[in-house]
Amino acid sequence: MIITVASGKGGTGKTTVAVSLAMALAEEVPEKVMLVDADVEEPNDHLFLDLKIERQETFGLLIPHVDDEKCTYCGECARVCQFHAIAVLGQNVMVFPELCHGCGSCALVCPEKAITEELSPTGVIEFGRVEEPPMDFMRGILNVGEASATPMIRELKHRLRREGITVIDAPPGNSCPVVESMRKSDFVLLVTEPTPFGLHDLKAAATIAREEMGLPVGVIINRDGIGDEGVERFCDEEGIPILMRIPMDRRIAEAYSEGIPLVKAVPGYRKAFVALYRSIRQEVAA
Ligand code: SF4
Ligand code: SF4
Repeated sequence: MIITVASGKGGTGKTTVAVSLAMALAEEVPEKVMLVDADVEEPNDHLFLDLKIERQETFGLLIPHVDDEKCTYCGECARVCQFHAIAVLGQNVMVFPELCHGCGSCALVCPEKAITEELSPTGVIEFGRVEEPPMDFMRGILNVGEASATPMIRELKHRLRREGITVIDAPPGNSCPVVESMRKSDFVLLVTEPTPFGLHDLKAAATIAREEMGLPVGVIINRDGIGDEGVERFCDEEGIPILMRIPMDRRIAEAYSEGIPLVKAVPGYRKAFVALYRSIRQEVAA
């Protein structure tokens, strides 16, 4: 079972939920648990974990390199590139590495075989282990200034195992990296706040997950009690289950600032997260 924890915007408690869900399950259920920090521009799950990184792999994109001796400037490479990362101007082929997704299409279509691909590192993928409670861990760390998080997240997703339970902490927002994090998940858990801003971003995230990707979705309302009833009304109208509520609680905020996960700061939440998982299983089976 792959559960992606997402939120339309940052700061809603997405990491708190992802880490606590993974920890509670690692402690309470027999299945193997893996936590994946896919917020590759700013991974911070490790701040809450007793983590040992065991292995690191360089991640990069294969960027095209054009051999001027072979190139006839036919323009096929530029025509096939969806990302405008290669352009042919007169007797010049220009590659824009910051736009390139390393898809390899330009090299494939080049009739002169003038394009070779060279690895350009964009970050690292790390594999590790949390000792207490025991679970596997994986994260991507994008180099500072790298523009595209999506290829790295796609690579993280390729490394997932289907057995056991995987909890993915998605990046914030509603753009391509989040879509990639959700892809092929069994369930998307959307963490939101009961405010107009929270509602606005929740609507966008729910639309992507449900309508564009056809995935089952549930909502966690964090800082329940602040704001208004817009989120509840929306979930009610759309038939989206509210699976958990985390009230505004000073202890939770203090624990977060000290790097203490919610399930350790307020142990009663451990059972609540296990109950959440059971609800998710029911939703997936429905
Ligand atoms: S497709 Fe090949 S030959 Fe044509 S412009 Fe591009 S690199 Fe040159
Ligand atoms: S590898 Fe893909 S994204 Fe990069 S320049 Fe070639 S076609 Fe464009």
